[in-house]
Amino acid sequence: MQVFLAKHAGFCFGVKRAVKIATRSSKLHREVNTLGDIIHNPQVVDDLKLKGIIPVNSLEQCGKNPVIIRSHGVSSQVYKELQELGVEVIDATCPFVLKAQKQVKKADDRGYQVFIYGDADHPEVLSLCSFAEKRPAIVFSHPSELTDRVQPKSAVISQTTKDLAGFKEAICKLVEECSELLVFNTICTATEIRQRHTVNLAKEVDLILIIGGKNSSNTKMLAKLSSPYAETYHIETAEELQKDWFTGKEKIGISAGASTPDNIIVATYNKIIDWFGDLPKAANVADIPVH
Ligand code: SF4
Repeated sequence: MQVFLAKHAGFCFGVKRAVKIATRSSKLHREVNTLGDIIHNPQVVDDLKLKGIIPVNSLEQCGKNPVIIRSHGVSSQVYKELQELGVEVIDATCPFVLKAQKQVKKADDRGYQVFIYGDADHPEVLSLCSFAEKRPAIVFSHPSELTDRVQPKSAVISQTTKDLAGFKEAICKLVEECSELLVFNTICTATEIRQRHTVNLAKEVDLILIIGGKNSSNTKMLAKLSSPYAETYHIETAEELQKDWFTGKEKIGISAGASTPDNIIVATYNKIIDWFGDLPKAANVADIPVH
């Protein structure tokens, strides 16, 4: 059996940065709060809890603790409330999300109806919506939802982790109806690269494991994109692996969402090697063959 890791898999720049900021702040404060989980990976969130980085659901639960804003960002309203509370704010919003927030504001200020290609209840989308203060942004999760909602002067932007194919389809639909269309391609390159390499790997293997939080939208998207090409399993940790999945399979692929840490990827690889391989185990991701 051969096991390959996708060329680009696991922690992206924004998530690495957020975890680094959180770890650093844990050394300076007894307890720091995050509004919601700092990233969509329960294992990383649990590790950080041990260091005093505690997720809360509302500002009332923070008391006077410093507050970390997670990589997905928060609404403009939350920024205002934090300022009023006078607590220390440690902003770990990914710079790509910050840029998208500014673009929503710019388009809204200039009189465009903002459309957001994304999942309506995703924290990043909720944050983006809040920056359209003049007229409510319209969120759509599939281009087919755009019917009858297009305004002559529109702007379209994407949640950073959505797929390029769907975004392109939405642009084509909008352009037919608008006299003026402003397009901001905010799909993050880390997302696009992970999607492309996952699909390439899925085309070459019999089975692919997509590792990442069950609540991680970019991980779910990787699993969705790989499933037409190879038998696909979305797992959070190596503990979920089942031996019978691998029966009759020769080539196994592994990919991982942008919020999946290296140690979980390595543990997954090593468990497969333990069961079926005759190769040495990996000490870190660099030891895993890539495809
Ligand atoms: S996926 Fe992209 S936008 Fe999202 S946190 Fe990572 S680098 Fe930032």
